[in-house]
Amino acid sequence: MEEVIIIGTGCAGWAAAIYTGRANLAPLVLAGEQPGGQLTTTTEVENYPGFPEGVMGPELMMKMQEQATKFGARVEYKMVSAVEPAGEGFKVRCGDEVLEAKTVIVATGAAPRHLGLEGEEKLIGHGLTSCATCDGAFYRDVPVAVIGGGDSACEEASFLTRFASKVYLVHRRDELRASKIMADRVLANDKIELVWDTGITAYLTDDEGEMRAVATENFKTGEAGEIELKCVFVAIGHTPNAKFLDGLVDTDDGGYIVQQPAGTPRTNVPGLFAAGDVADHVYRQAITAAGDGCRAALEAERYLAERE
Ligand code: NAP
Repeated sequence: MEEVIIIGTGCAGWAAAIYTGRANLAPLVLAGEQPGGQLTTTTEVENYPGFPEGVMGPELMMKMQEQATKFGARVEYKMVSAVEPAGEGFKVRCGDEVLEAKTVIVATGAAPRHLGLEGEEKLIGHGLTSCATCDGAFYRDVPVAVIGGGDSACEEASFLTRFASKVYLVHRRDELRASKIMADRVLANDKIELVWDTGITAYLTDDEGEMRAVATENFKTGEAGEIELKCVFVAIGHTPNAKFLDGLVDTDDGGYIVQQPAGTPRTNVPGLFAAGDVADHVYRQAITAAGDGCRAALEAERYLAERE
């Protein structure tokens, strides 16, 4: 039986692995579909302390992995389908395979949300994406749109101006939610056109099934419109990756794991801890996720020590 299984390899997972590794707990880290978490789809991270010149997201994650394995963390590339309490610990199911652990740290992060329009799934990779870093370079000298008004939308819109001939930023309100510095960057960029108070009502495709335009509606005037473009980048927030824990841990209305008592990584299940974006709909930063991973590791250590 493992002392600790850490599910997820974003900032929270790696920080938990570094701390439990240094505590000689030889953590087993399970990396799922997107090893390295959301930072692997980011370009430059300018606000992670210790990197005054900034650091590329994927590079930061590689360094965290290197640091964790140096202290004895083992990584397996498995998707967890369920976690169940069993005796003194937990059964962690990865399809047909069952692993056992005394403690579990859930650090599975959150996944980008989509609008829920018809044909969406088929369009992913054919002019619909939620990752400008991954796909922006495919859309050189053509018009594209970003949906949303938060920091992600602004960051993606600014980034896409390197490639696209024009970037429409389509937002459902007349004011950006993004931080002032990000919003100002967007508002000052000639290549970005703000489309306020507007929603996308349909994705329109060409004969080959590739995105060719979006149908829009202005929420204030009711006016319908169309924007011709080659790709839509959706940046409307995230859904926590906690479905596999349904019925076991308490979650809030948005599906985020409820840390209890608040401000600790503990959950309603003793021995099961939650860290990072899967339990945080407020801060959602690399540094807060890493801090949370550290706290989860310290809690797991204490929990194990008390049992012994
Ligand atoms: P967010 O702040 O929740 O913003 C989501 C945006 O999408 C909002 O403008 C929202 O509109 C819009 N939206 C939500 N559902 C929608 C729908 N169904 N249809 C149309 N629009 C919809 O999410 P985020 O931008 O991903 O940011 C998440 C967190 O990460 C934030 O704390 C942010 O500060 C942080 N972040 C930081 C950086 C950075 O510092 N470099 C970069 C990216 C993200 P409303 O405004 O009307 O609600």
